[in-house]
Amino acid sequence: MKTRYLSTQDSDIRLAADIIKDGGLVVFPTETVYGLGGNAEDPLAAKAIYAAKGRPSDNPLIVHVTGAEMARRYAAELPESAEKLAEAIWPGPLTMVLPKKPVVPDETTGGLKTVALRCPAGEAVAKLIEYSGVGIAAPSANISGRPSPTRWEHAAEDLDGKVDAVIQGPPCIGGIESTIVDLTEEAPAILRPGLITPERISQVLGVPCGYDPAITGPPDAGLVPRAPGMKYRHYAPRAAMALFSGPPENVRRAIGARAAELSAKGVRTGTLIYEDGLSAAENLFADLRRLDEEGCEYILASALPASESVNYSVMNRMLKAAGYNIVEV
Ligand code: AMP
Ligand code: MG
Repeated sequence: MKTRYLSTQDSDIRLAADIIKDGGLVVFPTETVYGLGGNAEDPLAAKAIYAAKGRPSDNPLIVHVTGAEMARRYAAELPESAEKLAEAIWPGPLTMVLPKKPVVPDETTGGLKTVALRCPAGEAVAKLIEYSGVGIAAPSANISGRPSPTRWEHAAEDLDGKVDAVIQGPPCIGGIESTIVDLTEEAPAILRPGLITPERISQVLGVPCGYDPAITGPPDAGLVPRAPGMKYRHYAPRAAMALFSGPPENVRRAIGARAAELSAKGVRTGTLIYEDGLSAAENLFADLRRLDEEGCEYILASALPASESVNYSVMNRMLKAAGYNIVEV
């Protein structure tokens, strides 16, 4: 298939919306990462998304909507907690899991009776959903297992020839995928950590919000994550990767020494050291792709201190990228 490259001009977004309405696939910008979207009400579109991504079809898609009103079309009910979170945070990087209506096909939800709903920020995506007139089901626009795309060029690298169109929007400012919160149980629980922290959710709802215990450690036979996607080894660069954890001076010294050692052996080595969680979130996936492109064989990265929830969210991705290879220094 020949992929069309579109701008964010109104006429181009209308073209993209026509493609969605016709059952086609469009790569679009959001504030978190680029999405690979199709009509959320069309089981064939969902199947085409899985095929393009090479993604296991038990891994459900997020349905992107224009706000709480459109969310009601897909959620069997919007509890007060969902209303409050939508009011306070949407459009923004928060996905809510709620019981689904029959209009959402099983193909979109990977057979689950719940649906994940999000209203993303950004003018292009808001218009795309509005003009399509339906929710847009989308995972991240990368080949399964590769780092999520934070630039349209990265999505094009993975999906050119496999999608009908790519919207050439701006680079993503958030940089890691949305926080997923499950609102189907008594207490809210975070199924995937992101830039919306549990503290923020607690503040809006006035009740405690914790993490799904299955996501806080390495994949463990005993604990099954409630977000099926969390069980896969995501975000993997081609290079091997080690995460150095400890006081900043120790980490810098250890990374420097290890880099010199590897270079002396002729191993192409790259380093990743971030100032803070937000800049790490914004740059991590692009940096992983860049290092791959440079032919880097070994990535030495500094772990972020666990003191802040945003750091924890980025570390979730860094740990997966490194295959939980941590070096304490
Ligand atoms: P991605 O689209 O790549 O950001 O991945 C979507 C994530 O949302 C995956 O981790 C899915 O497992 C998760 N997800 C989607 N729908 C549901 C749902 N109904 N319940 C739990 N997790 C979900
Ligand atoms: Mg993904």
